[in-house]
Amino acid sequence: MPPQQLHLTILTGASRGMGLAMALQLLSPQRHLLCISRHINSELADAAQKLDAPLTQWAQDLADTVGAADRLQSWLNDLKTSEHTSATLINNAGVIPRIGPLDECPPDDLANALRVGLEAPMQLTAAFLRATSAWVNAGWRGPRKVLNISSGLGRHAMAAQAPYCAAKAGMDHFTRCSALDEAEREHGARLVSLAPGVIDTDMQQQLRAGDPAAFPDLERFMELKRQGQLTAPADAAARVLACLDRPDFGKNPVADVRD
Ligand code: NDP
Repeated sequence: MPPQQLHLTILTGASRGMGLAMALQLLSPQRHLLCISRHINSELADAAQKLDAPLTQWAQDLADTVGAADRLQSWLNDLKTSEHTSATLINNAGVIPRIGPLDECPPDDLANALRVGLEAPMQLTAAFLRATSAWVNAGWRGPRKVLNISSGLGRHAMAAQAPYCAAKAGMDHFTRCSALDEAEREHGARLVSLAPGVIDTDMQQQLRAGDPAAFPDLERFMELKRQGQLTAPADAAARVLACLDRPDFGKNPVADVRD
């Protein structure tokens, strides 16, 4: 009997929040899921076991951007392409640094927000494209997709979050540039940077815990919660994953689930 063919999905930030919700929805006996966060999630491991879904979890700090990219590249190099029908990378991990003006952000917090929020997605995308381009050169013809989880804050400026806003704006723009590169290639990958809406996760809690004196938009975030306007992580995950399945995925490299 020929070996079963699997979709391959790599997902960062799967230990909690929307990433965990996406991981739970992606689990399937027909998919090999690689999750990358600093923490392993045992609920996810149990769910995978029950469904007989192939799952690999790495405890990896994405602030070590080169280490993470090298690890991903050699893991992909060792995979048997004949066992995979498609390859997808979802860069979902993100961090909110100290809330306040740029000059009040501790240098290590600022560096971490840019490393995890921008440099890691770029390095992982580069590693993914390098490894899977080699598959294509060797005759593999599965679809390749990169989905970067951006934010409305990459497109609209907000006080007190310059590093986060800059990381997301950078994510949008590198996605546009890489989409142009891939359009020049035969069997190129498709890339999208997607704003996922406002989601009821730890990240929103962190924003609501901001110092009112340092965060002019604090009340707006409090009001969103009070008015029940935050999307549940499972609903946000379903909407984001639906974008990946659209036949026109990649047509607009910068998009918003609310469009
Ligand atoms: P959470 O803060 O709930 O979760 C963040 C995830 O990123 C966790 O799994 C965390 O895992 C991982 N992560 C953080 N730092 C690192 C690191 N150094 N190395 C590896 N993994 C790391 O975020 P959300 O689920 O709310 O957000 C998911 C994405 O959606 C983010 O990119 C965010 O910017 C974006 N977004 C969220 C919005 C919202 O309203 N929540 C709005 C717009 C965009 P661990 O701690 O185990 O490392």
